Amino acid sequence: MELIEKAPAKINLSLDALYRHHDGEHEWRMVMTSVDLADYVHIQPSEAIRVTTDSGFLPEDPRNLAYKAATLLQQVSGVKNGASIHIEKHIPVSAGLGGGSSDAAAVLRGLNKLWQLGYSRAQLAQLGLKVDSDVPYCVYSQTAKVTGRGEIVEPLGALPNFWVVLAKPRASVSTPSILNAVDYSKPLPRPDTDQVLAGIQAHDFAQMTSGMANSLEQLTASRYPEITALRERFVRYGAQIAQMSGSGPTVFALCEKRSRAMRVYNSMKGFCPEVYLVRPLA
Ligand code: ATP
Repeated sequence: MELIEKAPAKINLSLDALYRHHDGEHEWRMVMTSVDLADYVHIQPSEAIRVTTDSGFLPEDPRNLAYKAATLLQQVSGVKNGASIHIEKHIPVSAGLGGGSSDAAAVLRGLNKLWQLGYSRAQLAQLGLKVDSDVPYCVYSQTAKVTGRGEIVEPLGALPNFWVVLAKPRASVSTPSILNAVDYSKPLPRPDTDQVLAGIQAHDFAQMTSGMANSLEQLTASRYPEITALRERFVRYGAQIAQMSGSGPTVFALCEKRSRAMRVYNSMKGFCPEVYLVRPLA
């Protein structure tokens, strides 16, 4: 018996970094959605927990977020079973697309079924926070407002209609190195998250995009100038908005019309090594 869980990539429509807690973690206010670029997590019953990937670059030991999620669920639930977990990787790594967190969340959802634990999504999300701050959102993997340290996930209604073009530059970004460098003594760029939320509720693309921004973009772009170059090129090619996702370096562009998104996608392919044309999942 094999169970397959889809683990979609996420993008941050808005990302507001509010302050640093005493333990060094950040307080967030974000709007996130998931897109149809996904890893697939294959899970089979086994005596011990084992993680393999088809990537060649990723750890297959306790450093893998999927492995962490599996052992955590095993400990908390007290089950004696293991599981053989294979990650079919499609999401670029260290890209700001939450691939590792989504794999971990897929493991939590999958093992909850395999081991018949009966945990709710909210319980899995709570557990997921111990693995990484994006895991609670990824347990849901549907458009949501995300606050706290990432553990307060409030699913939202349907998004206005749009297409997403993702451009992943060659550079890989270490999320901790960016998060450690955030300096709250200076003003950070801020999204107007209320405007983003109101736009989503009203199904108004222009209102939604008018509030979008990412507090981390300036910081990551100061180290990786290709981020600004990608963003400018996206706009020049006709994207209605372009913005960095998470701590970067992936830049995404939104277009209401498929024909325009196709044009932007095709133009971008000549400039950036990895480009994807995708849609939000929900
Ligand atoms: P985020 O946007 O949540 O910060 P990211 O997209 O920038 O995430 P990931 O691809 O999730 O970054 O992973 C970054 C780090 O996590 C890498 O150092 C990688 O080795 C490690 N990692 C552990 N498990 C995984 C996994 N299953 N998939 C991808 N990366 C993993």
